[in-house]
Amino acid sequence: MSLASKTKEIVKHFEFKFSKSLGQNFLIDQNILNKIVDAAELDENSTAIEIGPGIGVLTQEMARRCKKVVAIEIDDTLIPILNETLANFENIKIVHNDALKVDFNRLIEEEGLENIKLVANLPYYVTTPILTKVLMEKLPLKSIIVMIQKEVADRIVAKPGSKEYGSLSILVQYYCDVQKVCRVSKNCFVPPPKVESSVIKMNLRPPKYNVEDEDLFFNVVRHAFNMRRKTLWNALKPIGLREEDLKEVFKLSGIDETRRGETLSIEEFAKLSNTIYTKLK
Ligand code: SAM
Repeated sequence: MSLASKTKEIVKHFEFKFSKSLGQNFLIDQNILNKIVDAAELDENSTAIEIGPGIGVLTQEMARRCKKVVAIEIDDTLIPILNETLANFENIKIVHNDALKVDFNRLIEEEGLENIKLVANLPYYVTTPILTKVLMEKLPLKSIIVMIQKEVADRIVAKPGSKEYGSLSILVQYYCDVQKVCRVSKNCFVPPPKVESSVIKMNLRPPKYNVEDEDLFFNVVRHAFNMRRKTLWNALKPIGLREEDLKEVFKLSGIDETRRGETLSIEEFAKLSNTIYTKLK
């Protein structure tokens, strides 16, 4: 039986009602499912965390290939369904919670997870908060493989100078090497979402540039992109330096104050924030 027919049968059997507000668009394309699991490069020594298992299609496929899967699902009505669809798997743990509220470090420790991949067909309304949470909390993840809205994937991989380049590109590229896996059409889901999707893979690694104070670095980035059309001089005025100090920051870091934030590489943002750091000390 095809994945589409199987999914429709389970949905009908349990009289499941899709919730738009929870971003419930279930994947029904076996080919895309395989691409996601292949990209995760799971094996008997690795484990996976999944956000939003739905009826457990991706969860099962991962559990067949790795040591353990911990799947976090918010929707009460999906828990009894998952208990049935995943009943034959001893290496799956279902956590009934909002992924944004989960203490991942604790979960990883309690479940003894190692060599961890975060894999998900994400509910699109939480993409940025989830990525921000897992990256800023510095979870010990090897990689993140997620299906997300195509426009968000374009922003994540964007290079300086492009219109998609922004705080999200910098946040992710600061912590990870990023690559697109594939584009996914609306027809690969039930119900079909309004937007096109992409699968993207992020390999975590230590940051490439020395940053004295990461909070300050991301604060500088936020200021620079909050006022995209403004020069760096105007965008960084509210950061709390005296005008003469800010002038010197630009001089010392060798960055022209008339440039706009969207033209700066991560290395240049690091230089700028490190120079600001010495002035704020
Ligand atoms: N993994 C399934 C698939 O690929 O067909 C379902 C993916 S569906 C796009 C998103 C899933 O995330 C739904 O099961 C939804 O209930 C769940 N979800 C939505 N918000 C969540 C949250 N804050 N925390 C955990 N799960 C959430």
